[in-house]
Parts: sequence; C-alpha cells; structure tokens
Amino acid sequence: MAEHESLEFGKADFVLLDNVSLEEFLANLKLRFEKGRIYSYIGEVVVSVNPYRAMNIYGRDTIEQYKGRELYERPPHLFAIADAAYKAMKRRNKDTCIVISGESGAGKTEASKYIMQYIAAITNPSQRAEVERVKNMLLKSNCVLEAFGNAKTNRNDNSSRFGKYMDINFDFKGDPIGGHINNYLLEKSRVIFQQEGERSFHSFYQPDACRPVADFKAVADAMKVIGFTTEEIHTVYKILATILHLGNLKFGNDGDVTLIENSKLVAVLGELLSTKEENVEKALLYRTVATGRDVIDKQHTDQEASYGRDALAKAIYERLFCWIVGRINDIIEVKNYDARIHGKNTVIGVLDIYGFEIFQNNSFEQFCINYCNEKLQQLFIQLVLKQEQEEYQREGIPWKHIDYFNNQIIVDLVELQHKGIFSVLDEACMNVGKVTDEMFLQALNSKLAKHAHYTSRKLSPTDKSLEFDRDFRIRHYAGDVVYSVLGFIDKNKDTLFQDFKRLLYNSSNPVLKAMWPEGKLSITEVTKRPLTAATLFKNSMISLVENLASKEPYYVRCIKPNDVKSPLLFEYERCKHQVEYLGLLENVRVRRAGFANRQTYPRFLQRYKMISEFTWPNHDLPSDREAVKRLLQGCGFEHDVAYGKTKVFIRTPRTIFSLEEQRAEM
Ligand code: ATP
Ligand code: MG
Repeated sequence: MAEHESLEFGKADFVLLDNVSLEEFLANLKLRFEKGRIYSYIGEVVVSVNPYRAMNIYGRDTIEQYKGRELYERPPHLFAIADAAYKAMKRRNKDTCIVISGESGAGKTEASKYIMQYIAAITNPSQRAEVERVKNMLLKSNCVLEAFGNAKTNRNDNSSRFGKYMDINFDFKGDPIGGHINNYLLEKSRVIFQQEGERSFHSFYQPDACRPVADFKAVADAMKVIGFTTEEIHTVYKILATILHLGNLKFGNDGDVTLIENSKLVAVLGELLSTKEENVEKALLYRTVATGRDVIDKQHTDQEASYGRDALAKAIYERLFCWIVGRINDIIEVKNYDARIHGKNTVIGVLDIYGFEIFQNNSFEQFCINYCNEKLQQLFIQLVLKQEQEEYQREGIPWKHIDYFNNQIIVDLVELQHKGIFSVLDEACMNVGKVTDEMFLQALNSKLAKHAHYTSRKLSPTDKSLEFDRDFRIRHYAGDVVYSVLGFIDKNKDTLFQDFKRLLYNSSNPVLKAMWPEGKLSITEVTKRPLTAATLFKNSMISLVENLASKEPYYVRCIKPNDVKSPLLFEYERCKHQVEYLGLLENVRVRRAGFANRQTYPRFLQRYKMISEFTWPNHDLPSDREAVKRLLQGCGFEHDVAYGKTKVFIRTPRTIFSLEEQRAEM
C-alpha cells in the first residue's frame, strides 16, 4: 500500500484530516514525527519537523525517486517541492521561488541546502563543464556564508544571523548558469556582545571549534575555490584580527585627556589596517567636526571613545560580510548570457530568513525581524488566496471566499509613511539635540493611542507587564510581543564617525580601501544623512516581497519539536504555538474549500487512461475533456471533481490516491 494511505504513519496530507481542529492537526503531526515521517503536506505546502538526527532520506536513490514525479506520487518530501518548483520553471518558463519559514532551529537552513543539492543533482545531465562549475560555486558559497553569518546561540548551534535570498538562474535547457544572493540585516551587535552561552560568528573561532564549518582553513579553501584571491583572503584574516584586537582596547582618562590604556595595540591595528599608527590613534580619540567654516578636532570622552570603538568593530564586520556576498555575486552571476540565442533565462529563488522571534527581552532587531514575518505572512495570504481564486476564475470554476485574519493592519502599523512606527522612529532620530528612547516612546504613544494593535503602560495603566518609559506591545498576527525601546534610537541611527571611514579608505591595502568608498569625503563634504537602519530594512523588505510576488511560490513551513535538540521529544505546547502562528490550520481550511489537485486533460489521460476501457489505449470521444469525464464517471468520482476549461479539478487527494492504486494494479 502506498505510504500516504497507511494509517500507521498518520495522514500524509493535513487536508485529509477528519476534522480540521488544532488537536487533530497536532495529533497527526506528532504521530508522523514519532514514526520518523518528518515531512507532511497541506496541499502543496511542505510542513517539516526538525528530526534532530541524521535521516537516511537525502541520498542518490531518494533523489531518483522524486525526479520528474508529481507531488502526490511519492511520500511528502522537500525534494518533491523542489521538483515541483523546477518543473514549473522548466515546463512553463516561469520564475518560481521557495519560501522557507519557521523559528530559530526549526531547520530552515538545512532545508534550503537539501533543496539546492536536489536541484544540483537533477540538472546538467550532459555534464557541461561550465554548468558543473556554477553548481559547485553555488554549493560552496553556502559554507562561506555560514562561516561569516552564522553563530552558536542558545537556540541553535548553527544559527543564521542574517536573512538570505538566493536566486539560481537557469538556461533554456533547465541547467544552472549562475546565481545571485541578497542578504538582509546581519545581527552585527553579536561582534561586541553575546548572551550567556552564545558565541560570536563562527569565523572568529579556530579549527578546534565545535563545527567543521568553523574551521577557518576549510573556509579559506572554499573561498579560494570560489575565486577569492590570496590577497583578499589575507585581508579577511586581518579584518577578523582587527575586530578581536578592538575588543581588547581600553580607554581611560588622565584629567582632561582621554587615553588608550593598552596603547601597544594601536601599533598592531595600524599594521593590520595598513595605515599609520598615529592615524589609528587619532581616529579612536578624536572626531573632526565642522563648526561654521572651521574644522576642528574634538576629543572624545572615554565613553564616546568606547562607543566609537564598538561602532567601528560592528561596522567593519558588517562591511566585510556584505563585501563577501558581493564578491560571491561577482563570481556566480550569469556571464555572457545572450537571451536572443538562448531564450529566456528563468529563475528559482530560495528564501531562508529569520522566523518570528519572541525573547525575554525584545529590541530593535526583533522588531525588524517580526515586521519581516508580517510582510511574508501578508504575501502568503495574498498568494494562497489570489492564486487559487485566479485559477478558478480562469478555468470557470465557482469559488466561495474563505475568511482569514488579514494582517495588513499590522504591516501598516509598522511601515506606513508618517504614521507608522518606522516613520515615528526616523522622525525622532532627525531631531537635533539629545533625543532619548523615552522621547521616541512618547511620540509613539501620542500617534498610536487608538491603534488596536499597539499599547504601552501609559495607554493601559493597569497592565503591570509593561514598564513605564520603556515598553510597548504589538499584537502581531503570531502573538503579542513586548519591545523595550532602549537602544532603538542608537541602533536606528547606526552612526559611524566619518573619521573611521576616512581611516579605512586611506588604507594602503586596496581590498580594504575598496570596502569604504564613502571615506573619500572629508567632514565638510558629507552633506547627506545616511539612511537609517529602519528605512534601509523597510526598503529591502518591500523589494523582497515584490520580487517574491512576481514569482510562483512554494512554501516550506518548518517546526521545531522541542528546545533541547532531542530527536524523541514532541513538546505539545511548543508545537501548538508554532502551528497557530504559522497559520497552518487556516491554510488547511483554504485548501479544503478548494481543490487539492488539478491537471490538464491530456496530462491526466496520459497517466490514468489505462484504468478505463473508454480511454485505453485511445479514446474516440470528441475531446480529452469528455474522455476524462467518462473515465471519472466510470470510477464513481463524479461528486469529487469539477471540469475547468483546460484542467480537471479534484477536490480530495483521496481520489488521486485511489486512481494511483488502480493504475498500479493494472
Ligand atoms: P536559524 O533561524 O537559527 O538559522 P534554522 O531554522 O536555519 O535556524 P537549522 O540551522 O537549519 O535551523 O537547523 C538547526 C539544526 O537542526 C541543524 O544544525 C541540525 O542539527 C538539525 N536539523 C535541521 N534539519 C535537519 C534535518 N533535515 N535532518 C537532520 N538534522 C536537522
Ligand atoms: Mg538558519
């Protein structure tokens, strides 16, 4: 019997649940997890539960089983969704994307790697050397990005501290010819501060560290293979060393004069940054300010100097990371592609981005990340509904609308011009003079007092869980989150003194210099305020969502079964919360109201014509549509199907499974 029919493993597709309730959903998810069935479907959405153990389901033989198959022909798997995205791209010449979501440690990055490996394995049958080279680069680039962008956290030993969207470009034969990576909001504060039990980015640790990926030699080798020059790799080493030394730098004061206590380090920094020792010292202790027509050197207090040092360490690392992504892009981008000769070049995008975060203490970073998840949820709502509705309309099938919680109101609360939280924050940052986080909170309170999804202690005085002058709460689609405003202003302004930029630009190391083009300007020439962190993030999210919306989407929803990395434990409450906030139940409802499966008439006949005497070996009916009708009537499935203009729509997967079985028995 086919796996999807065997009750021993639960229902392979949640659409088949007898009752759509949270309890039944979770019971089925738990049963499947315990039976080692980590993947399930909601229609075409893959639900994945992190097994926390090596599974023997990603090998060559499994790949062969999924290659070119339809989704329902095999047990649920990431490979099936990867194949579906690939087929849609190749057959219908459509750009597709695979959106992977879930919280930290749920298995997003592993899933994205299996998807890439699958695509690499099924393409380039003719073994063209250039295609092999591109595939190798795409796979190797992951290792480098993980070394610089991932870190051990309390939730995940290999946690991605940035969002990643990767496009793979294909030629008319369906072979990869290049790619492009977009990275989002690296958590750079990790360079200077880590929570108890956490670490900085893998790249800072030497070969004895816990993960092979942290072995810098292996990373340097991967960089070399990808095409980084020796000089570039050396510069990377030097930048990492610079950041480590900056971390040891201490300031003090002697009366009016601010001093560097361990001044020997300054010479080392000069050497590493290929610049003069005295320039380093000056940039650390003074700041050039323009007052009217005069330019003066203003000495930092020791606090200001420490602030500058930390800002420098964070900025250098972030710049390094973006530079690495940029170099990888230079190397993997499609070259010499002539669409006139080769036809359209199509794309599969893979998004591996941070999931919703609710921590003990939530700050600016969590606010950005949760806003990102609101945007993606909005896209999910629009696409799942939009796509379904459009197809039914096109095919002339009647459709009844399903109600959903529409989170657009929360997206607006954050991003609306003038009224949204980001705008209020930017306005606060523009004020001259000392602006405090409390002033920002006051501005929010006066602008958003009536908003149903915003509150604070001032607006709800009896709510003791919120601190005056510090907290505000947002009712997100995935649950309530209390944010502390402390640090919002500073993180949003994200100031790095121009003196540091000039210092780095004036380095005699050309690789380093190239990372800091804006250091060319002197203080009097800097006229434009740089965009704030919130605005940059908002813009990048808007363009990400536009990009995804232009493609045909496939979804992988990852669930973390427990917080102790156990392969055995299915923590009910934890899983329940995730199923709720990923909106999986609504997803099942929408899917059930619609049709689980649809196929063009010729395609359907090609697969099932042998089960009916009217269609085997060929039919003499006036059209394929009539033939499919006759076939399904003969099987007694009339009640479960609708006939569109070009496709037959089948309501329940059960019908498909039954057809599959009859076919197998022939
Ligand atoms: P973050 O948001 O923190 O980056 P993530 O969702 O990307 O988290 P992963 O790094 O993909 O999570 O997974 C965390 C760990 O869980 C992996 O390092 C691995 O040990 C385990 N894991 C995840 N998926 C699988 C899988 N399919 N098979 C075996 N182990 C897995
Ligand atoms: Mg990850």
